Amino acid sequence: MDNARFADQIQQGSRQLGVEVEGEVAGRLHRLMGELLKWNAKVNLTAITAEEEVLEKHFLDSLAVLPEVEGAGSVLDVGAGAGFPGLPLKMARPSLAVTMVDAVGKKVGYLKAVIASPGLGLTGTKAVHTRAEGKPEAEGLPRADRVIARAFMDLPDWLDLAPAYLAAGGRVVAMLGKAQPEEELRAQAEKRGLKVVSARAYRLPFSGAERQVAVFARERE
Ligand code: SAH
Repeated sequence: MDNARFADQIQQGSRQLGVEVEGEVAGRLHRLMGELLKWNAKVNLTAITAEEEVLEKHFLDSLAVLPEVEGAGSVLDVGAGAGFPGLPLKMARPSLAVTMVDAVGKKVGYLKAVIASPGLGLTGTKAVHTRAEGKPEAEGLPRADRVIARAFMDLPDWLDLAPAYLAAGGRVVAMLGKAQPEEELRAQAEKRGLKVVSARAYRLPFSGAERQVAVFARERE
């Protein structure tokens, strides 16, 4: 896909998702896609290899949660894999301090390479190779304003793990597939001394695939 068509789809998709992305971000995402697909031929990073799908299922799906991240200074992406949602969020909001963590060394190797790659606008992003088990200091992981994951754990396990990484006043963000009823989100939250801050269902702009993003905070701060 050429750069102009790609940029057009990113802009159109973001608009449909209701998120604002500066014009130059599309060019950087296009270069990131080039790196991802080049590396993916040697290192198994993602099962999604069609460009249209990378654009929507990786990039737009990551950008879709910008509203849940807005206002935060720092984001911790746990089980980031090939960098989703962390890399697109950093590209779209360069002032965010983004740390990605993954247990698989070759994935973190890829993340470190793209972070160091000039022209991607990822300077300052961190990638850490460790298994996140809820001990930030021992694991060399920061506490963050938003602790986020996609396709990492089911909701109960995520809500058991993620709060350990919260900075004061921070929020846990869960990117979910099919929407779960709010009572279910609330019940899962309450068991762990958390509350539901927001839950938003939406569809990806081109495929219409269903998604939900839920935000949790400690009940007592
Ligand atoms: N978030 C990415 C990748 C999801 S796959 C995306 O949505 O595309 C889940 C990733 O979590 C894998 O890369 C796996 O290596 C990593 N992982 C699994 N358990 C982990 C743990 N305890 N700590 C850190 N990473 C873990």
